Amino acid sequence: MSYSFNPPKRFLMGPGPSDAHPRVLKAMSSPLIGHLDPHFVQMMDEVKDMVQQTFLTKNELTFVVSAPGSAGMETCLVNLLEPGDECIICINGVFGGRMVDIAQRCGAVVHKINTPWGEVTNVEQVKSALEKCSKPKLVALVHAETSTGALQPLAEISDLVHNADSLLVVDAVTSWCGVPLKVDEWGIDAIYSGTQKNLSAPPGLSPVSFSPKAVEALEARKIQVQSWFLDLNLVKNYWAGAKRAYHHTAPVSSVYAMHEALSLVLEEGLENRWERHQKIHEHLKVELENLGFNYLVNEENRLPNLNSVYLPDAIEDEAKLRSVLLNDFNIEVGGGLGDFAGKIWRIGIMGESCTKNHVNMLIGALKEIL
Ligand SMILES: *Cc1c(COP(=O)(O)O)cnc(C)c1O
Repeated sequence: MSYSFNPPKRFLMGPGPSDAHPRVLKAMSSPLIGHLDPHFVQMMDEVKDMVQQTFLTKNELTFVVSAPGSAGMETCLVNLLEPGDECIICINGVFGGRMVDIAQRCGAVVHKINTPWGEVTNVEQVKSALEKCSKPKLVALVHAETSTGALQPLAEISDLVHNADSLLVVDAVTSWCGVPLKVDEWGIDAIYSGTQKNLSAPPGLSPVSFSPKAVEALEARKIQVQSWFLDLNLVKNYWAGAKRAYHHTAPVSSVYAMHEALSLVLEEGLENRWERHQKIHEHLKVELENLGFNYLVNEENRLPNLNSVYLPDAIEDEAKLRSVLLNDFNIEVGGGLGDFAGKIWRIGIMGESCTKNHVNMLIGALKEIL
């Protein structure tokens, strides 16, 4: 009996993970070293530096949580919210709802701004929420809502939030390294992302960054953070360069992969990468519309790297079609979530999966099947 596992070679065009570059996979097979080894410490410093560069931030408190994007979300909320704190959370898909769940578990009083899935939260909604709750501890939004493919404008809302002397918390899991994201320029106070979407590294790590104002809020806490693992007061010493103290054991090979993937982003250039996602999106859009697919989100707020589309009427069983794509063509696309289950597809073109070849392969397969 052998338990050898040989995964098939897929082309990952769903909501994540996306394909990884051979250099990233190779980095993961490098020899293990100890997580307190000076070579590893130096590499972590470089990771931090590259995360700052790709977030476009100078925030000193920038590091990587040893767990996936959801843990980055939890890190931001459990550190900033104390029992009884008021906050405003914008919900226009799955991930806004998840933030509400976490904030409520922190004992916060959550004021929700509900927007129909597929749309984005507008400035007027935030204004009226701030009339009812004039000084929330934080206002949280999802920049790129992966459940619907909507891209949330942030700049104007950021001004409103700061005028209320409140902190702006942003989920950038699916926007980081794929579409324009400017942490300092947009005044984002706490941000988290994940490695398996546009970065094209394996899942399991979450970069986060806190502005000086968010750090002040951390330091002003009256009650200890209820999560030991995610308590930034403890974790931050682990990312303190040469002074680093044992907190947990970093997933060494995953950090190698993240380091290599970040190097690839900087070699390409952040802006070139944004442009590539936009250009390939336009190619995909023309081809999908020719086949009778229709976009869920209006053009103005459409996320280029995650394409949510209604299927052509002629397709009766979308799940069956996805399984033919997977089993016969090795192409993975995502199905809909929540109310959109069975109604839409979510086609990701992220990072290494964002090439003309990927699009042509998917479209070619669909033409053959249909
Ligand atoms: C994928 C995703 C997450 C969660 O990331 P995991 O790595 O799956 O934990 C959070 N927010 C958004 C917008 C996402 O797309």
